[in-house]
Amino acid sequence: MDFVYGQDSLEDRYDQVLVRYGEIGLKGKNRHVFEQQLVRNIEKALAGLSPRKIQRTYGRMFVPLAGDAREVLPRLGRVFGIVSLSPVVTVGRDLEEIKEWALQMAHGHKGSFRVDVRRSDKSFPMNSMEMNRLLGGHLLRANPDLHVDLEQPELTISVELRSEGTYIYSRTWPGPGGLPLGSSGRGILLLSGGIDSPVAGWLMMKRGLELLPLHFHSPPFTSDRSKEKVIDLCRILASYAGPISLHLCHFTEVQKAIYRDCPPDLGVILMRRMMMRIAAGLARERKAAAIVTGESLGQVASQTIESISVINAASPLPILRPLIGMDKEKIVELARTIGTYETSILPYDDCCTLFVPKHPEIRPRPSRVEEAEEALAIPELVQEALAKIEVIEVDG
Ligand code: ATP
Ligand code: MG
Repeated sequence: MDFVYGQDSLEDRYDQVLVRYGEIGLKGKNRHVFEQQLVRNIEKALAGLSPRKIQRTYGRMFVPLAGDAREVLPRLGRVFGIVSLSPVVTVGRDLEEIKEWALQMAHGHKGSFRVDVRRSDKSFPMNSMEMNRLLGGHLLRANPDLHVDLEQPELTISVELRSEGTYIYSRTWPGPGGLPLGSSGRGILLLSGGIDSPVAGWLMMKRGLELLPLHFHSPPFTSDRSKEKVIDLCRILASYAGPISLHLCHFTEVQKAIYRDCPPDLGVILMRRMMMRIAAGLARERKAAAIVTGESLGQVASQTIESISVINAASPLPILRPLIGMDKEKIVELARTIGTYETSILPYDDCCTLFVPKHPEIRPRPSRVEEAEEALAIPELVQEALAKIEVIEVDG
């Protein structure tokens, strides 16, 4: 979601941002709740700037500007639920003023354009067709570098005539879309330092799920640098979500026990099952209702359908795997778009790569897994790991 903004001579003149949101509109009776959540999230995203009152009208929102479009727009461009946004100039019904601003919007532009007038204020003396023609003609006369193209114009100047004011704009940027963060409850994100899990977390946040990331590390086998890397990934997620509480779980004892007492080919599966139990324990403490992972079907031995099913059996909570049907290239592409890729590919030592067996079981039988776990003091290991969780507050 790279938000390239600038080179706009009107930057300081825009007085509000028109915010469009999509699916919330479909939510029937809950719509109000969703809209309120979006307003809160926008306010949170703008924290630290001068305070402002967000207005809701007809399924859209207006965020006032105070000459600070450059700060406000990139922040809004990362708020989940926002489909697109346009900085606007708001004027009254004075035709000369509307013509002047439409001209300003095309200032310096060479090439094709069109005017797109919408009139919801039917008391306005001209209809939208007449206004299109009037403004188009005015622009053509005043700026000889312009020509009209109604099909694929390089520049569209939009004019919305409403009873509360006339909005004029020519630029629209995409937001991330989806639902407002927090509108789908809370989940625990199993966050490794790899490419996949940050993308999985981002996708679930985009569906409104607030996340508590949980990272397992195994000091002294894993380094502080790996921990820093996960903090950096959380910082990127926080640039969309606002401050995030990263939970660090000391996993060394669990891994040692598995390595010492269980068959090596089941190592990774048993580790994953322990991760799920600890995640479920944390979910209980923090009132989360789901676990999120970056697993994708068939990607590695622990992600075959048999492995996934054995892993699921250890979790009392639903495990959400938004990447399950995605190819690696697609995941990488998304990681680049959201900005986690460059951090994810930095070298790190993951606790899971420490005791990786040469020949991992790819079709684990549930009975064999359960039998292997008899050698482990599961409740004690889980309790110990939960008690040692460290929380780091990470801001964007
Ligand atoms: P990723 O790129 O997210 O590490 P991966 O393709 O490397 O995923 P695995 O290493 O098998 O796959 O891990 C599968 C999933 O298990 C990860 O996506 C993540 O959700 C979780 N996971 C793995 N290692 C850790 C860890 N150290 N801490 C927390 N979660 C982990
Ligand atoms: Mg990994």
